[in-house]
Amino acid sequence: MEKRQELYAGKAKSVFATDDPDYLVLHFRDDTSAFDGERMESLARKGMVNNRFNAFIMEKLAEAGIPTHFEKRLSDTESLVKRLEMIPVECVVRNVAAGSLVKRLGVTEGQSLTPPTFELFLKNDAQHDPMINESLAETFGWATPEQLAEMKTLTFRVNEVLKRLFAEGGLLLVDYKLEFGLFKGEIVLGDEFSPDGCRLWDAETREKLDKDRFRQGLGGVIEAYEEVGRRIGIGFD
Ligand code: ADP
Ligand code: UDP
Repeated sequence: MEKRQELYAGKAKSVFATDDPDYLVLHFRDDTSAFDGERMESLARKGMVNNRFNAFIMEKLAEAGIPTHFEKRLSDTESLVKRLEMIPVECVVRNVAAGSLVKRLGVTEGQSLTPPTFELFLKNDAQHDPMINESLAETFGWATPEQLAEMKTLTFRVNEVLKRLFAEGGLLLVDYKLEFGLFKGEIVLGDEFSPDGCRLWDAETREKLDKDRFRQGLGGVIEAYEEVGRRIGIGFD
């Protein structure tokens, strides 16, 4: 597979065409953004760490029968993926209250959520990724009710697999965001799963080991990502 022209440069990854119209190369950059791109910084090693992290998680999910876009890691910072027609809806599951849920509802950070919650957000930086629902998604044509139902089922299946995986490393999967797309008509998990798009706390101390370290200026961002990786069996050399 040959890498061709750059199609899109997002906030953290760049997307390249290949000589096969069904496949893309995702390049994980060191760029890190927060607050819908208002704050940007380059964090050394982040591209490599997230590329390896994502490859490991996507393989675990595929083993559990979840359809993903991931094909293989091509280099330290690049992976080959299926080219999806992305659905502009972010699916968020929460096991513990944190982030925007705490701000919006005034609930206590750290409160356990039973059953876990499911939320939809529109992927739209200009509008600050507003919260939406099934009705709005259907009316505006962002996703059909059938697609949304499948996305919800898959997002909760991911929770079962990853809650257990992180728990074995002494980590609490607090919340995470998934993006899906269509590949030949089928709903497939796309984008990435890394500490950039989820919250992970030490199960004992509740120390934050994810992108909140960057958002909150706590430092040691990539060191925390690597610590999480090591605890679940990822080697970063
Ligand atoms: P953003 O666009 O939010 O700034 P990134 O920097 O991570 O995010 O850019 C990656 C872009 O690639 C995102 O827009 C994401 O939706 C898109 N993408 C991820 N996986 C695929 C895929 N398999 N096919 C097509 N587009 C994808
Ligand atoms: N998230 C993300 N991208 C977004 C919005 C949220 O990856 O554009 C992730 C975020 O890292 C967290 C979860 O989704 O793990 C829930 O985020 P929340 O709604 O609490 O928003 P935040 O306060 O993190 O912006």
